[in-house]
Amino acid sequence: MQVEAVELFHVRMPMKEVWRTAFSEESDIESIFVRMVVDGQEGWGETAPYRSPQYSAEWCDGAFGVLRDWLAPALIGQEIASGAALAAQLACFKGNPFAKAGLDLAWWDARARLEGQPLWRLIGGVDNHVEVGADIAVLADIDALIVEVGKAQDAGFKRTKLKFRPGWDVGMVRAVRGAFPDAVIHVDCNSGFTLDDLPLFRELDRFGLAMIEQPLAHDDLLDHARLQAELDTPICLDESIISLDRARKAIEIGACGWINLKVGRAGGLTNAIAIHDFCQEHDIPCWVGGMLESAVGQGPSLALSTLGNIRYPCDIFPSDRFYHEDLSEPSIRLAGPSSILAPETPGHGFAPDPDRLRARTIRHAAVGRER
Ligand code: MG
Repeated sequence: MQVEAVELFHVRMPMKEVWRTAFSEESDIESIFVRMVVDGQEGWGETAPYRSPQYSAEWCDGAFGVLRDWLAPALIGQEIASGAALAAQLACFKGNPFAKAGLDLAWWDARARLEGQPLWRLIGGVDNHVEVGADIAVLADIDALIVEVGKAQDAGFKRTKLKFRPGWDVGMVRAVRGAFPDAVIHVDCNSGFTLDDLPLFRELDRFGLAMIEQPLAHDDLLDHARLQAELDTPICLDESIISLDRARKAIEIGACGWINLKVGRAGGLTNAIAIHDFCQEHDIPCWVGGMLESAVGQGPSLALSTLGNIRYPCDIFPSDRFYHEDLSEPSIRLAGPSSILAPETPGHGFAPDPDRLRARTIRHAAVGRER
């Protein structure tokens, strides 16, 4: 399977409403679409590290540059027979998991299309009905939050995730728990706290949360292990899990009870599957998270969510949750309360609409040449 050409599209998509977390406030989302041609077959990937380096050290402009100048040229003309071979070809370049993921995801889409198989089947998925949850950002006030959690409960979502940050913390959870005593709820701290906040987490431990997601620094393992030893509520690591090696170390020192897998942050589907399999062998359940991205970005996450050790509703959302219009076709829709179907079409099942892609592209580059 020879990589012939790579095209990059840096796009900006307006969101329906401002998205507030512990690390930023976003009104548009930027991402990079990667079109890769392998043996004459195109495949599409999307990577969305955010406009600024506030979620992780990567950001869209930087990822575009490293893809154009270093990563894509290293693949052109190469025979790439597996995801592992692609990762090996890029291993001389340190870090940059989101940028590498764009190439890995496009390669997997091209490979599945060449084989005429849906991606979820190709990677060994067990069922294409994917359970998904509700995700609620930091809102203007608690009354607005109670309304949104109520809507998620009424819509049948089997779990609700609440963004959690200093000032929007234990008091917020107490109010939600008071209104919804039996709801499956967890909080996502997006690395907004330190071990100095131990008293706050001890208080939080009393509310029967399903998990506490990434309470401490984005690149930490050791302090998470110390915090986990103090709490009954399992910690879920997200930002910290950028590779199989990090996952191994986290599990070895008892830093978490869950792992949130993200194909972008892990450097692609290849690494995400490797982390999933390692967690399965070590009895650590996983679920799949996502970034703010179009259906092209969510497609590989849907495929990943069909694997056997995914044991909690995932962060994959219908396109109309965040956007007036998805850039991709088809858009993502709920197939029933709290579920989305991974497509049966070859590949991950999504591609950008050419007109919408052109309209939203702010920068374009082409590397290599199609036959
Ligand atoms: Mg998270």
